[in-house]
Amino acid sequence: MTQTNALSKMLAERDWILADGATGTQLFNMGLSAGDAPELWNADHPDRIHKLYSDAVEAGSDLFLTNSFGGNASRMKLHDAQDRVFELNRLAAEIGREVADASGRTVIVAGSMGPTGDIMAPMGTLTHESAVEMFHEQAEGLKAGGADVLWSETISAPEELKAACEGARLAGMPWCGTMSFDTAGRTMMGLTSGGLAQLADRLPQTPVAFGANCGVGSSDLLRTVLGFENTSIPIIAKGNAGIPKYHDGHIHYDGTPELMADYACLARDSGATIIGGCCGTTPEHLRSMREALETRPRGPRPTLEQITERLGGFSSESDGTDGAGPAPRVTRRRART
Ligand SMILES: [Zn+2]
Repeated sequence: MTQTNALSKMLAERDWILADGATGTQLFNMGLSAGDAPELWNADHPDRIHKLYSDAVEAGSDLFLTNSFGGNASRMKLHDAQDRVFELNRLAAEIGREVADASGRTVIVAGSMGPTGDIMAPMGTLTHESAVEMFHEQAEGLKAGGADVLWSETISAPEELKAACEGARLAGMPWCGTMSFDTAGRTMMGLTSGGLAQLADRLPQTPVAFGANCGVGSSDLLRTVLGFENTSIPIIAKGNAGIPKYHDGHIHYDGTPELMADYACLARDSGATIIGGCCGTTPEHLRSMREALETRPRGPRPTLEQITERLGGFSSESDGTDGAGPAPRVTRRRART
């Protein structure tokens, strides 16, 4: 792997890197309505996106994801904005570049590329070529806006991860990818943690880092991280702030800043180098994670018992690597993180 990109350089110099928290949670708090496309805010409310990024950087994040998770043609089409993919992605990264460069330290702008929402062939209708083309278009916009690296997250199909990686490669951009292991330890399409570790070595370009994001709770996420064995590629852990719970008609994450501080240190002890949060993770959680990573010593690799003692129980008995996992299940669209 070349060390010419900013993230590889940071990985070579640092013991751990704090990523950011939830984008969706923060934008909903700023007034985004369910069903709105957050990417349109890059043009309509750049001040709010500036604040989204600044809040993470001020809380101690060394890396943040741009507001472009759903910024591919397939998803923007739902908002009749499929012809604005390049512009909206460029803006997402441009605002990010501004915040990172004004921070007074090195902060990585990671261009977020979420799933298309379509099911890929052979199970679905989206061909590899069309998926690559969509991701490539998005990648060019993020590159033009000054992203340091591209970052696919919440992916469940190996085919889609490959297409995103290929799109980044065509744009000449370094790339990271994380998948969501939300179905009894596996991704919705049935991939295990061990399966992703193997896949990472066979992608169109070697990822700068790979790992897991979202899924169920932070305990499950760490069990997945422990399953990324036999790899020399840096590992990413971006877990939700606790477990999602329905409360008064909306989803609430019950993880406290103290719990996320424990999670961050356990993630480091489990082998993750890039550590952040996903749904429900606010700047308050990030501050607490940063402080813990800076002040608590590194510990031994935790056992599953130690993880559940500190963070709560797993959502399923096994992580799916014993062959007892569920059959792949197909739904059309993933929830936004
Ligand atoms: Zn999430």
